[in-house]
Amino acid sequence: MKKNYDVLIIGTGAAGLYGALQFPENISVLLISKRELSLSNSSLAQGGVAAVLDTISDDYQLHIRDTMTAGKNKNDPAAVEVLVREGPGDVMKIKELGVDFDLDENGDMQKTLEAGHSRHRIVHHKDSTGKAITDALINTVKQRKNIDIYENTLLYKLEKDSGGFAAGFLFENGDSCTSYARYVIMASGGIGRVYKYTTNSAIATGDGITFAHMLGARIKHLSWIQFHPTAFAAEADRERFLISEAVRGEGAYLLNCEGKRFAHLYDERGELAPRDVVSDAIMRESIRTNSENFYLDITYKDPEFLKERFPMIYHKCLEENIDITKDHIPVFPCQHYLMGGIDVDLNARTTVDRLYAAGECSHTGVHGANRLASNSLLEALVFSRRAAQDIIERMKTDDNSSPCPEPVKDDLSGNKLPHGYRTEIRELMQDCHFVIKKPEKVPANLIRAKEILNDLEQGGYEINRDFIEARSLATVAVIVLEEVMKENDTE
Ligand SMILES: Cc1cc2nc3c(=O)[nH]c(=O)nc-3n(C[C@H](O)[C@H](O)[C@H](O)COP(=O)(O)OP(=O)(O)OC[C@H]3O[C@@H](n4cnc5c(N)ncnc54)[C@H](O)[C@@H]3O)c2cc1C
Repeated sequence: MKKNYDVLIIGTGAAGLYGALQFPENISVLLISKRELSLSNSSLAQGGVAAVLDTISDDYQLHIRDTMTAGKNKNDPAAVEVLVREGPGDVMKIKELGVDFDLDENGDMQKTLEAGHSRHRIVHHKDSTGKAITDALINTVKQRKNIDIYENTLLYKLEKDSGGFAAGFLFENGDSCTSYARYVIMASGGIGRVYKYTTNSAIATGDGITFAHMLGARIKHLSWIQFHPTAFAAEADRERFLISEAVRGEGAYLLNCEGKRFAHLYDERGELAPRDVVSDAIMRESIRTNSENFYLDITYKDPEFLKERFPMIYHKCLEENIDITKDHIPVFPCQHYLMGGIDVDLNARTTVDRLYAAGECSHTGVHGANRLASNSLLEALVFSRRAAQDIIERMKTDDNSSPCPEPVKDDLSGNKLPHGYRTEIRELMQDCHFVIKKPEKVPANLIRAKEILNDLEQGGYEINRDFIEARSLATVAVIVLEEVMKENDTE
């Protein structure tokens, strides 16, 4: 790793990779990922990317309206406009970079429907769109001479002076180093691991949000958390495999423990209502039936169509002894996505000079209080490109002549982390801030989350991945529960 870079990007999901690719050869970029390059929420994305690619059968205004409706009109209209109007250009760009979108018989990109969309506008690669996108972007990034890419490299420190950032990295073999960058783009993903059950990958512990918070960046609407209604209900796993909305888009019925459809009793859009509405319907039906047994049934469709359209879901379910062409799929809601995050403007600038944020760790305002399906990959692409463009532009006038500080060797040794803090934080969050909120439990849970955070900050613990992630989970829990307390106080 070099001593100095122009730009440091934390994260190799869609936001980090696509952002890195915007920089010309004369701008040096360091791109890091705390685990393998392929382990990210981006690579798990199934359904696809929403974009208005043809204005005959679709319309920007319709996509804007659908996004605002799903978001309960709490979206930032200017950000939604940028997302919807600029997004199609970015989708075409990643297609050029090698993303193998499924095509129809005319050779055009196949478009499917998902809950909350009034038109077929989701482009996809079977049911593993995220992997198709990240594979293509990783291949392209690796060919760029100006981009250094490191995996299994954890950001453990981020300090700022007027000319840039000193960042500390911890490698898999236990070695560490520091490096200096003039600009940072946080593309570090979401916070799913702050819940007991989540569809998110193991990296989603809110590290980037925590570092930005420690630098004084404004964090907004962190309590706006989305729960997906149909994660595969396997009790043993923390990371729950997602049964994509596209399965309901293709006509799957949602059944209760009595084998009866019920979604239409809670909302006239039935199974195709936005995901917060369907999650809420399941939880209420769960109380009514006193059962957590819910199922998706798509057995009435042609088996060959299902295997071709949902190969990943088909095989994953088979591993659990469920044949989706014949069996009902057990599902239950769990944490899925974060609408809030590090607050940014339309150029992805945070409130800290030279610090940018893009993708799931950021709050652009596009999603409002609830994200419309398949809008998040689009957001990651559009706003990481904008962050890069803004940096390229300001580098023409910013004074970057101050000498970069020399790298230092930090002493990372310390006390052993007590067992159980992460599990406890997850239980606190699951207990009071799940689909149906329990405001009466928030004050006590907040006090406990603060005690844990305080101990993590003061305990002199060894700096390693367990510690960084535990501190991030505790920080996220405290910010979320403080926000909820404030909202409850003002109601
Ligand atoms: C199962 C599933 C299905 C989904 N399906 C869809 C879909 O069909 N369509 C859609 O639009 N959206 C979908 N989403 C949401 C979407 O995938 C994510 O919101 C989006 O991909 C996030 O991209 P990102 O680049 O912001 O973060 P991520 O892809 O999560 O990447 C985060 C990166 O940050 C790195 N990182 C984090 N902390 C550190 C640290 N301390 N040091 C170093 N590196 C760090 C990680 O290693 C990782 O490389 C889905 C999400 C899930 C979980």
